[in-house]
Amino acid sequence: MQQPQFVEQAEPEEVFGLLSDDNRVAILRALWNGDEPIGFSELHDAVDIGDSGQFNYHLKKLVDQFVTRAEEGYELTVAGDQINGAIESGSYTTSGRMEPIQLDSLCSCGGTRTFYYEDELATIECDSCSLTARYDIPPSVFADCDHEEVPTVAGRYLRTVIERLHHGFCPRCDGPAEHTACQFTDVPGWDEEEPEDNPLGNPRELPIVLHECRQCEHKITSGVQYSLLTHPVVVAFHYDHGIDIRDCSIWEFTSFMDRERVRSTDPFRASTVFTVDGDELTVVVDEEMRVVETIPDEAT
Ligand SMILES: [Zn+2]
Ligand SMILES: [Zn+2]
Repeated sequence: MQQPQFVEQAEPEEVFGLLSDDNRVAILRALWNGDEPIGFSELHDAVDIGDSGQFNYHLKKLVDQFVTRAEEGYELTVAGDQINGAIESGSYTTSGRMEPIQLDSLCSCGGTRTFYYEDELATIECDSCSLTARYDIPPSVFADCDHEEVPTVAGRYLRTVIERLHHGFCPRCDGPAEHTACQFTDVPGWDEEEPEDNPLGNPRELPIVLHECRQCEHKITSGVQYSLLTHPVVVAFHYDHGIDIRDCSIWEFTSFMDRERVRSTDPFRASTVFTVDGDELTVVVDEEMRVVETIPDEAT
């Protein structure tokens, strides 16, 4: 990957090696819990490393990657903040199984859908068809929420992940992420042997958005509707019907079947239909998810 001159990249193993010492983690935690910037002796007092030479040695190892030194003292870099964030997030684990919750919005087949959360995975299943969706969600997201709020909070969290991806940032490593709209069958790992009675219909006719991080190669797929929730035509269509789309549950926008289809492959065009109060708006996108056409109340 080409880097601008002010960005340098170290080997990941080397970076991880910097953290392979309890004393260094203690320094990062002291900066996180203290009132930055923190002076040398105050920081030394905050950690349990008696020898000042030892303390200095470990602190120096952290400077650049995780800590910066300013005139007033030491501060965490963004990566230093994120390491602490990961430690906080990692302090939550899932224990046991959450009681499933029925969602208010129906599947596009008309069936009711149930939300499950287990092993850091949110799963939505329809009781009438085999349509299932799965999303990775860290347990820290639910730290302060009541049981019945879990699907709403999960939906809000997913919106932030998708928005972040659409602005071009990987949710895992903050590296540059790209997205492409394509046929369902173009997604790496698509199983050609999938059964014919796929509830989604013919997978070649179904569009999906594939997000890929150029730095860590993390891949995430999302529906076309999800990816358009902040587009002005979609926001305005809802607003004109008196709806602030930010207040809508993301689960209203998850059904593929009759709402999303590939219209042509060369050039690639896919469309999705938003419906409010019986009015419809068909939004047509190209492979870069640019809106190329909007069609009100298209006969389908
Ligand atoms: Zn269904
Ligand atoms: Zn990444």
